[in-house]
Amino acid sequence: MNVSTLAEVTPLVLDRRADFPILARPIKGKQLVYLDNGATTQKPNVVIRAILDYYEQSNANIHRGVHWLSQHSTDLYEQGRERVRSLLNAARPEEIVFTRGTTEAINLVANSWGRANLKAGDEVVLTGLEHHSNIVPWQMLCEQVGAHIKVAPVTDCGEVDLDAYRALLGPRTKLVGIVHVSNALGTINPVAEMTRLAHEAGALVLVDGAQAVAHARVDVQAIGCDFYAFSGHKIYGPTGIGALYARYDILKNMSPWQGGGDMIYTVSFERSTYADVPQRFEAGTPDIAGVIGLDAAIAYVQEVGLDAIAAHEHDVLVYGTEQLQSLPGVRLIGTSDHKAGILSFVVEGIHPHDLGTILDTEGVAIRAGHHCAMPLMTRFGIPGTARASLALYNTRQDIDALIAALRKAQKLFGTGQA
Ligand code: PLP
Repeated sequence: MNVSTLAEVTPLVLDRRADFPILARPIKGKQLVYLDNGATTQKPNVVIRAILDYYEQSNANIHRGVHWLSQHSTDLYEQGRERVRSLLNAARPEEIVFTRGTTEAINLVANSWGRANLKAGDEVVLTGLEHHSNIVPWQMLCEQVGAHIKVAPVTDCGEVDLDAYRALLGPRTKLVGIVHVSNALGTINPVAEMTRLAHEAGALVLVDGAQAVAHARVDVQAIGCDFYAFSGHKIYGPTGIGALYARYDILKNMSPWQGGGDMIYTVSFERSTYADVPQRFEAGTPDIAGVIGLDAAIAYVQEVGLDAIAAHEHDVLVYGTEQLQSLPGVRLIGTSDHKAGILSFVVEGIHPHDLGTILDTEGVAIRAGHHCAMPLMTRFGIPGTARASLALYNTRQDIDALIAALRKAQKLFGTGQA
């Protein structure tokens, strides 16, 4: 994006800061500088209001009721499904299953599709960038069925080694799991290319989109993946709700993994028959208010514009990268040219947890630790990093506050002299 366009985009996005009431609250007497968006994003008024309105005006259980409120509530819930479809550009709403979040979506695939399709000797290929939630469910499954996990290694700048990835794929590969954007380093994986290679080997592909959907336009048809998972709370929506996209022809042949109400067609003590997709995968009363909040959150980012958000966050990322790299004693972990707004770093002589605590006294909220990516930390030979992760409301001034707080921490520890 050229500078004049960015100059138009930045105020457009920054005008939105006032939409997030929590950003106005002081923390420990300081103005809050919230840089922990990779863990969860803050919620705009429209999302908070949508949930409040739902409970005040529309609350009823869905799908089973004949009364007006139940039908109204059902309409709102299904409108949320259509909204997720539009966010991901899925071909049809039936391809969207509501889950508690990314973790549950991946567990659904492992337990339903995985159990039916993986056998002893088969292989699951993952990348060294994966979050624990795209590792552990596959480990549990592989242990049960006798399959194996292969891992595509990560280069020094934090990218997947594509030659090594290609070499891992073969006739035994049944599933490839790829994080779209690394939560620990910010690397954006070339998911369309990686999916194409996996398909050539005859494997299905699951993309973990937890850190992607809020920061750039996602198109599951263009990626070509078979499954795509994300969490509502990382896209300005509520916690406890998320979604799985699964290609219709695959989903309709998958068996349910949880049984109960709402997922059946008929039940007798001899046998039950199951509802069509996606209801087959939504046993029990779902998080209706969560879906309503998620609907409002997606409508919000669509209104701001995902291209504008991506351009703005990229500008703050580039600025933050320059600032951190100019600070003596600070080393960025993850320096790919293809990055989303995540700045992971280590500071010489200061443990990431100590750093996080000191920054907190300055009102600067970051995350410190292994970021649920322990194998990746091992790859870089570090226990963890400090991580500043961006959202649409973050500014260059937030980066300045981060740098000022880092200087204070270095002074306190007597480190950081050039
Ligand atoms: N995958 C990635 C890349 C993540 O960053 C996260 C959360 O941080 C998850 C999966 C798990 O998301 P959730 O805890 O919302 O299920």
